[in-house]
Order: sequence, then C-alpha cells, then structure tokens
Amino acid sequence: MPTYTSGLFYKQRLLTPGPTAVPEAVLLEMAQPIIHHRTKQFQAIFGDLSQRLQRLYRTAGPVLTIAGSGTTAFEAAAVSLIRPGSKAITVASGKFGERWQDIYDLFGVAQVRINVPWGDAVRPEQVADALRANPDASVVTMCHSETSTAAAADVRAVAEVVRRSDALLIVDGITSVGALPVEMDAWGIDALVTGSQKALMLPPGLGFVGLGERALQRLKDVQPHGYYNLDLRRWLKSWHEKDVPFTPPVSLVRGQRLALEMIEAQGLENVWARTARLAAGTRAAFQAMGLRLIASSPSDSVTGAFYPPGVEDSKFRAALRDKFGVHAAGGQDGRGAKWKGKIFRVSHMGYVDAGDTLAALSAIESELIELGQKIKPGTAVAAAAAVWGASVS
Ligand SMILES: *Cc1c(COP(=O)(O)O)cnc(C)c1O
Repeated sequence: MPTYTSGLFYKQRLLTPGPTAVPEAVLLEMAQPIIHHRTKQFQAIFGDLSQRLQRLYRTAGPVLTIAGSGTTAFEAAAVSLIRPGSKAITVASGKFGERWQDIYDLFGVAQVRINVPWGDAVRPEQVADALRANPDASVVTMCHSETSTAAAADVRAVAEVVRRSDALLIVDGITSVGALPVEMDAWGIDALVTGSQKALMLPPGLGFVGLGERALQRLKDVQPHGYYNLDLRRWLKSWHEKDVPFTPPVSLVRGQRLALEMIEAQGLENVWARTARLAAGTRAAFQAMGLRLIASSPSDSVTGAFYPPGVEDSKFRAALRDKFGVHAAGGQDGRGAKWKGKIFRVSHMGYVDAGDTLAALSAIESELIELGQKIKPGTAVAAAAAVWGASVS
C-alpha cells in the first residue's frame, strides 16, 4: 500500500467510471478562498455555469445545479415530476435503472417495469407498448448509458415514442452528458439528469437536472407533495435569480464552471469524438486479448469485460492499482444479474487520454499474462493502435 510520502511518486490513473480524474487547473480553481454565496461575485460565477450547462445539454431551458450526487438529482426529478396517483413506466437494464425503480417503490408509486437483460438496451417498441397499455402513466424513466453494464440505449428513438403521449421522459444521463452525443431539445427529452464526477471532470458533489417545456408545465400543474430539498420548484425559482435555495458547495460550483470552459474550449463534439475513439480502441484491445465484452450495445463512456476463468477480481484489480497505478472498477450485483467478481470496467470519460488508456490496456494485458492467460505480449496496445491510426488524441 503506497504511503502518503511515497504517494509523491505514485501517479494515479483513475479509470473508474466515476469518480474520474480532475484536471489540475480545476483542482487549483477549487482551492480559491471561499466566497459567500449571497454575493454578486457568486451570482456571476453561478450564472456563467448555468449558461455553460445549457450549451452542454443543448437546451434553451433551465439546467438546475443541485448539491448532492447524481442520485439526489435523479430522485428530485422523479418525485417532482410524477403526477400523484399515476403510474411510472420504469426501464431497468442494470444497477442504476433498478435504483430508479427502488426510489418509486419507496415513494409508493405504481410501476410498469420494463426489465431488460443486463448488457442489452431497451427497444423503443417496448416503451411504445407499455405506454399504449398504460395511458395513466405520467413518466417514463430510463438510463442513457447504463454504467453498470457498459451499455447505451437509443434515447432519441425512445423520446420520439414518449413525446406522442402525455408522459414525460426522465433520462439518467449521468455517464452520457459530456461523453456521448445528447441533444436535449432536438431529441425532446423532458428531464435530463447528470452528475459532476463522471464526464464533467469534477469531484463528486453536484447533480444537474435539465427541464424541457413539458416538464416545466408539469411542475406548474401538479401540487408539491411533501418534499423539501427534493422539490425542483425551489431550485427552479432560485435559478431564475442566478441563485440556489440552500448554501451551495461554492468550490465545486467554481470548479465546474472552469471544467465546462475547458470542455467548450476543446469543443463538445471533439470531446464526444475522443471518448468514442478511446472506447473503440479499448473494445478492440479487449477482444484481441480474447475477453468477452459485457454489453451487446456498448456505450462509449465505459467498457466492460467478463473475466476469463482463473482470474480473481479483487487480486487482479489490486495488482493493476498497486503495480501500475491503474484504477479499474469491478462489477455489481442487482436483480437482473450478479456481476460482482465476474467483470471489470474501464472509463473513457472526462480527463483521460490515449496515454492513460494505453497504460490501462498494457497493465491489464500484463496481469492477465501473469495469471496464466495465453496472450502474445503487445496484443492489446497493437489492437488499440490499429483502431486509432493517426487520429489518436
Ligand atoms: C454513477 C451513476 C449513478 C449514480 O450517481 P451518484 O452520483 O453515485 O449518485 C446513476 N446512474 C448512472 C448511470 C451512473 O453512472
């Protein structure tokens, strides 16, 4: 275990799909002295952040910044937008979709569950059928990029189906916004949620909720039902005044403003393209090493593979971490599958480049060889390089 002092020489490559690495400039920005939040200075920072979030989301509507993790933001959207007494159509194809079902269970909301095998993506027809059979459904929830299974769903096609009904589409974009193409207004997503610690290059602690016109109307139509911090109306009212209802994590707000400035300086489309290239190279490298991918419709945010027989998860990932400074994530258990100990995952989101990815691929290959897998040394890097060609960034 590296100590604090040896940590000076211990370069960490945080390739878990959240939290992810934070650029040095953002860390320094967050080290600025704390300012009071009821000041013009904070309002200017917060107002600038809000505009950058709108451009990130590709929306003309409000994007609320909420203190908490992605789950806080999603829970706020879920409980604020459901029409009391109505049903929710809830898509689950992994751990996070299942979490959104758990939240509605806890709040006593009747659900029509669309449970998709882990690794697969929901088909838009499944949502269309559920909406036809349940005209009293007032919301549909789904994950765009289901991080636990490294699979991405066709949100655009689902949104097209949901827009023909009175139901609102609430999308968990926690590992899609800032990583994969997402067009909130053009696709017609009613509520889009993300978090700070995945593709947005910030530590954990902020959640974001974008609200489309139909969602804003719903907030006017339905009565608040007993929530305080989770009631989006409070956040929306303050948002119009470039403000927040409760003391915000000022340092994170500052840091997020700068991180979004960095993303815009690079160009959002270029960020999407880099993420896709890193993912394509990683998938090719995994397959060249004989690993089976966990997703049938892979997300470009994160890549996962099943362990071959004989590789023990905790030992494997500890070796990656301690010998190579590469942090990969393991798997999770849920209702749809038990993947703890069976898989590992590597992120392509945010402050990660080809060098980090090659270090991870090389470390993974070395450890697999060490554990007796028959892999020709150099296979992983060669496969990634073949995909990237000269276009690597
Ligand atoms: C990380 C993640 C969450 C949970 O976000 P927290 O910030 O940990 O609350 C939800 N959904 C997806 C798809 C995620 O990747």
